[in-house]
Amino acid sequence: MTAILAPYACDPQNTRGRRFAEVSAPTRTDFQRDRDRIVHSSAFRRLVYKTQVFLNHEGDLFRTRLTHSLEVAQLGRSIARALHLNEDLVEAIALAHDLGHTPFGHAGQDALNACMAPFGGFEHNLQSLRVVDVLETRYPQFDGLNLTFETREGVLKHCSRANAQALNAQEPGGVAQRFLDRTQPSIEAQLCNLADEIAYNAHDIDDGVRSGLITLAQLQEVPLFDEQRRATLAQYPQLEDASQGRRLLYETIRRMLSEQVYDVIAASSAALQAAAPASADAARWLSPLIGFSEAMREKSQVLKSFLLRNLYRHPQVMHTTGQAQQVIADLFAAYMDAPQTLPARPTPLTAQAELSVARQVADYIAGMTDRFASREHARLTGQQLLA
Ligand code: MG
Repeated sequence: MTAILAPYACDPQNTRGRRFAEVSAPTRTDFQRDRDRIVHSSAFRRLVYKTQVFLNHEGDLFRTRLTHSLEVAQLGRSIARALHLNEDLVEAIALAHDLGHTPFGHAGQDALNACMAPFGGFEHNLQSLRVVDVLETRYPQFDGLNLTFETREGVLKHCSRANAQALNAQEPGGVAQRFLDRTQPSIEAQLCNLADEIAYNAHDIDDGVRSGLITLAQLQEVPLFDEQRRATLAQYPQLEDASQGRRLLYETIRRMLSEQVYDVIAASSAALQAAAPASADAARWLSPLIGFSEAMREKSQVLKSFLLRNLYRHPQVMHTTGQAQQVIADLFAAYMDAPQTLPARPTPLTAQAELSVARQVADYIAGMTDRFASREHARLTGQQLLA
């Protein structure tokens, strides 16, 4: 039934478990069950209306947080299967990794972080954990989705030391401990981080070209892209024709993805063999074991800085970013002035420290979709931004 797992893969039989004990499901492993809970959550459905790079209303074919998360899961699972890692865990982490993202992508996150600076700040990774631990209220017996330690560990990709200390005080030796010990998460979690990077580097090229903000000609300065473009044209010279631009783009990106996936599999498999961790837990105490070869790391770096210079900092993207920051800052100020207008939330089942008004406001704003935030902004300020 299950693929053979490497000794260092996370085995659901040895999970460190859930925070609230539950009877196991009759036919599904704990990691499959985590994945299913994530797919059925409200936060997951909101991802479809949240920006990845381009705002949702800018075009129907651009990636959203949802399609991005599905691409991360696809890449993660392919690599996991080849490395005999736990595919279900990889899928669960991939589908949950962006649940805490604000509307309007990184612009929204930066703006909310700035608003929250006097109140402990806002980190989207920490927020993703907060969504699955606290904010989803759909079970009678606990708050959150009560996911396994391993899925939660993967969701908390980064965490500041101060936040790690605060989390660790609530859950001693829990998912924040590694940020204090400076150890690694499971190999499956390491894999999701890299799959995330591979996914956005590739789809941002596609969306960037589709938007007209970057061109195939500009991309010739990126070796990772251009080597595959040349190989594609050598095999299919008819794609030189301008009318075949999209086919050439897709085939190039497809080859680029394969090259990176096979590189990760080869490099990681060599690292895993050399380190030979005896268990999933032993791997947490070693250096990272999932990664590109040195040559691929450099090529991927060139692509990243290309996207930063030419796409993420494109004047048109920066203009939208400025407006998005305005919307978030205005919403934050409006709710802080009138916190009684925040919708009521179900009473938490578990004892929680009294939440500050600012944190409740941040939770509410972070949960919004792009369009809900724009409409709410228009209602509260009478201004039409990003609509
Ligand atoms: Mg992501």
